[in-house]
Amino acid sequence: MRKMLLRGIVLPFLLLGLMIAADARAESNIKVTLLGTGAPIPLPNRFGPSTLVEVGGQKLLFDAGRGAPIRLRQINVPVGKVNALFITHYHSDHTTGIPDVWITGWVVGGPARRTTPFRVIGPVGAKELMANLEKADALDIKIRIEDEKLPPEGIATAVEEFENDGVVYQQDGVRVIAFTVDHGPAIKPAVGYRIEYNGRSVVISGDTRYDQNVIKYGTGTDLLIHEVCVARPELLGNVVVQRIMAHHTDPQEAGRVFSQAKPKLAVYSHFVLLATDSTPPITDNDIVVETRKTYDGPLEVGEDLMSFEIGNTITVHRYKP
Ligand SMILES: [Zn+2]
Ligand SMILES: [Zn+2]
Repeated sequence: MRKMLLRGIVLPFLLLGLMIAADARAESNIKVTLLGTGAPIPLPNRFGPSTLVEVGGQKLLFDAGRGAPIRLRQINVPVGKVNALFITHYHSDHTTGIPDVWITGWVVGGPARRTTPFRVIGPVGAKELMANLEKADALDIKIRIEDEKLPPEGIATAVEEFENDGVVYQQDGVRVIAFTVDHGPAIKPAVGYRIEYNGRSVVISGDTRYDQNVIKYGTGTDLLIHEVCVARPELLGNVVVQRIMAHHTDPQEAGRVFSQAKPKLAVYSHFVLLATDSTPPITDNDIVVETRKTYDGPLEVGEDLMSFEIGNTITVHRYKP
């Protein structure tokens, strides 16, 4: 009888506990926003490569291409609130927004202003990049400290470099792992990132050719964001086109990556769509058609400000101003 009573009390609590746990799992654990899905060519609809990952109360930025602060503003994320910037490699399309994120996060924003050092994590080269930016902008920094009384610590930098694959960031249950990718023999270092939190993960390929390491780190991930490069068949004889394509992944190759890694959702970002004055770039639909030759799973063609809420399921949102 006592046992029955006890069970009568314990069981509802147990069920309640399970329901709360299930509910927590159903919530979004990671939110990813594609701030810029472009490449070096200046385009109004595809800004320079940059991806915001909001996770565990932190705002992590992966690359800062052209226009990153404008895209942050469009989603009401103060640029000064970025907790850390991760760099995949040192091609300018991935870095031209860095001085803007760094300085604007300090200059603009009132209470949203950054008052602690700008944290940058990247493969070898990050220290040199940031030290030279500090030199380039030394006069502006001096003027603003004297004139506007901005806090000097907010424009300081805290840069961490790494040489090997592995965990490069750990904070309140969030883990970021860097892994080497193959962007061609002359373009080193080049890495991708895997972000983990609460049993969920997101993988960003960085710029790469078809690479087993993306499959290794991307296997079973929730969201696999992959670059893509493509030209119409009539351009494939062009040596410049051939050289660019040798640094990147075409849709059929990306489809092979997706088929092996089996992410919950595959997403294209960083569109290198090669064209000439007489030959237009291929369309988004053509990219999907090509990908479908090697992959039949869930796929999104990324757009600037497209976002993904990752919980038990992945919800995709298109930007509406
Ligand atoms: Zn690039
Ligand atoms: Zn690149």
